[in-house]
Amino acid sequence: MTGQAAPICNEHHRPKEWQPTIFEYGDDGISIRVPNVYAWVCPEDGEASFTPETVDELIITVRELLEPAKRARERRSVLTEYIVSVG
Ligand SMILES: [Zn+2]
Repeated sequence: MTGQAAPICNEHHRPKEWQPTIFEYGDDGISIRVPNVYAWVCPEDGEASFTPETVDELIITVRELLEPAKRARERRSVLTEYIVSVG
């Protein structure tokens, strides 16, 4: 937990829930999905609000993962999907 009160969804006026969700990034034919990221999630439509700390981490992660993804695309690799986990 972040130790703060749950934020309220502006659209549905319901408290969001702190739970794991999937972060998805897409750009120019490359998609990056990061599962099991904790965020405040609206119980109505599942829209996630990531904390600033998590956003910082996600930006770094996406930036680093884009490099090998672009190289794989340039060499037209037959391998088109990778699952990497740490720890
Ligand atoms: Zn909502």
